[in-house]
Amino acid sequence: MISFLKKIPLTLKLVLIGTIPIIFLIYFSMVIYKGKKQKLEVMGDYIERINQSAVLGDLINNLGIERKFSIRYLLTDSFFNELSQQRTISDSIINEIVQENDFGLSGFKEYTFLDELPAVRSKISTTTPAFSINSVIDYYSSTIYKLNSLNASIPSSNVYLTSIYQDLLAQKILSDYITIFEIIRTNVFNSLNSRQYMVETLLGSYGAYKTIKSYEIEFRLKASAQSSELFDSIRNKTSFKPTMDYLDSLFTNFEYDNTYDANEWWQISSTGIAFIKEMQHNLWQSAESQMVIAYNTEKKLQNVAFILIAISILFVVAFVFFFAGIILSQLREIKNAARKISRGATGVNLKNMPRGTIGSLAKSILQIERNNLTMARAANEIGSGNFNVKINPRSEDDLLGKSIQKMKHDLREFNSQKDKIQKETLDLVRKRDEFFSMTSHELKTPVTSLKAYTQLLLMDANNPGDTDEKVRKGMLEKIEKQVDKLVTLINDLLDTSRLQYGELHYHKRAVKLNNVVSGIISEIQLSNPEHRIIFQKNINVQVFVDEDRIGQVVSNLLTNAIKYAPQSKEIIVRLDKHGDKVICSVRDFGYGIESYHYEKIFERFYRISEENMHTFPGLGVGLFISKQIIEKHDGRLWLDSELGKGSTFYFELSVFTKS
Ligand code: ADP
Repeated sequence: MISFLKKIPLTLKLVLIGTIPIIFLIYFSMVIYKGKKQKLEVMGDYIERINQSAVLGDLINNLGIERKFSIRYLLTDSFFNELSQQRTISDSIINEIVQENDFGLSGFKEYTFLDELPAVRSKISTTTPAFSINSVIDYYSSTIYKLNSLNASIPSSNVYLTSIYQDLLAQKILSDYITIFEIIRTNVFNSLNSRQYMVETLLGSYGAYKTIKSYEIEFRLKASAQSSELFDSIRNKTSFKPTMDYLDSLFTNFEYDNTYDANEWWQISSTGIAFIKEMQHNLWQSAESQMVIAYNTEKKLQNVAFILIAISILFVVAFVFFFAGIILSQLREIKNAARKISRGATGVNLKNMPRGTIGSLAKSILQIERNNLTMARAANEIGSGNFNVKINPRSEDDLLGKSIQKMKHDLREFNSQKDKIQKETLDLVRKRDEFFSMTSHELKTPVTSLKAYTQLLLMDANNPGDTDEKVRKGMLEKIEKQVDKLVTLINDLLDTSRLQYGELHYHKRAVKLNNVVSGIISEIQLSNPEHRIIFQKNINVQVFVDEDRIGQVVSNLLTNAIKYAPQSKEIIVRLDKHGDKVICSVRDFGYGIESYHYEKIFERFYRISEENMHTFPGLGVGLFISKQIIEKHDGRLWLDSELGKGSTFYFELSVFTKS
C-alpha cells in the first residue's frame, strides 16, 4: 500500500494533498450549514406557533366576550346588536384560522366544539325554550378551555434563546391563568346576578381558584424577574387587586359578600383581568419580536457563514493550486538543470529557489555543476601540462575528484619519466656519437702508426741495409705496442658487449692478490717508464678470484692513474687488510675528479667531458668493466678524489682462507 502511494506521480500527490482537506472542509461546512438550517427551521416553526398562539388567544378573548354578551342577553333580553357584532368578530377570527390551513390546527373546529357554535348561538337567539345560562357558560368555557390547551405548546428548554423561552412560558402560564380566572369570574357573576349564592357553588369553583393561585406561584418562579415585578405591581396596584382581594375573601370565608353587585363585579373584574391580558399579550409580542429578530440575525449569519465558507474554499483551492504550481515549476526547473548537467552542459542557472528541501536540492544541483566545471577546468589544465592546478577531493567518496587527482599525479609522473627518458636518450645518443668518434679515433691512431711503421719496414725491405738493425727493431716494437693497444681496445669493446648480455665468464681460483697486483705493476711500469709506480704496502694475501679479470681491473686503474696524471710521475699502490677484507688502492696526484662524477664515471661510455680532459684518449668503458668484475666477486669499487690534487681508486675483496 505504502509503495503504491509512493509511486503516485507528484502532481497527483499535490492534488490529493489539496483536495482531501477541501473535501473535509466542504463536508464540515455542510454539517455546520445544515445545523444552522435546522436551527432556523426550529425558530421559524416557533415563530409560526407564536403567531398561532396570538390568533388563538384572540379567539379565546373574543369568545370570552361573546360568552359575556350571551349571558347578558339571556339575562336582560337586550343588547342583541352588540352580541351579534361580537359573533361576527369571533367568526372572522375562526375563518382566519381555517384559511391559514395550519397543519397543527387542521380540523380544529371539530375537537374544540366550535362546530356546535352556530347551534348554541341559535338557541341563545331564539331564547325559546329558554336556554340556560349555565349551558352557555358550560359551552363557551369548555370551548375556551380546549382552545387554550391548543395554545402554543411550550418550546423545550433546548431552544437557543433563554429569554424568549422564558417569555413564552410566562405568557402560557398567564394564558391558562386568564382562562381559569374567566371561569371563576363568570361563576361569581352568575351567582351574584342570580342571587343564588350557595356554598356549593363556591366550592365548585374552589378547585379553579386553587389552580390560579398555583399559577401565580409558578409564574413568579418561571417568568423573568422583570415580568414577575410587573405581575406583582398589577396584582397589588391596579383594579386587579380589589378583584383578587374579593376572590380571596370569598374563598377563605365561604360566605356571601355583598361588596359588589353582579355588574360591579363584572366591571371591576373585567378591568382587573384586562391588565393581565395586556401583560400576556405584551409577552407574546415581545417573544415574537425577539424571535423574529433572532431568526433574522441567524438567517443573516447563515448567509454570512455560507459566503465565508465559499470564500475559504475558494481561497484554499486557489492557494493549493497556486503553491502546487510553484512547487511543480521549481521541481521542473531543477529537473531540467539536472538533465542539462547529466548531458555535460555547464552554465546552469537556478533562480528564486525557496529555502528548505527544494532550495537545498537546487543548491546541490548547482554545486554539482560548479564542481563539474572546476574538475573540467582542472582536467583541461592538467591536460595542457599545468600540474600546479589544485585538486582537492570534496570527500572520501569523491571518486571524480580522486580520479582527477590521481590522473594529475600519474601524468606528472609520466611527464617527468618522459623527460628523464628523453634526457637519457639524448644522453645516450650523445654518448653513442662520442663513442663512435672516440672509437674511430682510438682505432685510427694505432692503425695510422701501424701503417706508417709497416710502410717504413716495406721501404726497408725494398732497400735492404738502409735501416739500422736497432731502428728496425724499435719500429717492430712500436708495431707490437700499437697492436697491443688495438687488442686491449677490442677486448674492452668485446667485454662491454658481453657484459651487456651477461656473457662474461669467470674462472675463479685461489690466488695471491699481491702477486697479481705486482705482476700488473711490472707490466705497466715496463711500458710507462716515465712514471714511477710504487707498491707501497705489499702484503701477502690470498683471494678466490678470476686472476685475469682482477688483473684487468688493476691494469685499468693503473692506466687511468697514468693517463690522468701526466704531470705527476708518482703512483702509489697499496694492499691493506681489514679483517677478512683486503683493499687495494691506486693513488695518483693528477687532475682529480669532482664529487659530482663519482657515480657516473662507472657508467658505460661515461667520460668527464671538461675541456682539459678532452685530449685524453679512451672509450669510457674501463671503469664500467672494472666495477662489473669487482661486483661479480662480491666486492666493491669506489674512489676518493680532490680536484687538482689527485684521485685514489679502491677495490675491496674477501680474503680467502683455506678451511
Ligand atoms: P677512459 O679512461 O677510457 O675514458 P674509464 O672508464 O677508464 O674510461 O674512465 C672514465 C672516466 O673517468 C675517464 O674518462 C676520466 O675522465 C675519469 N677518470 C678515470 N680515472 C681517472 C683518474 N685516475 N684521474 C682522473 N680522472 C679519471
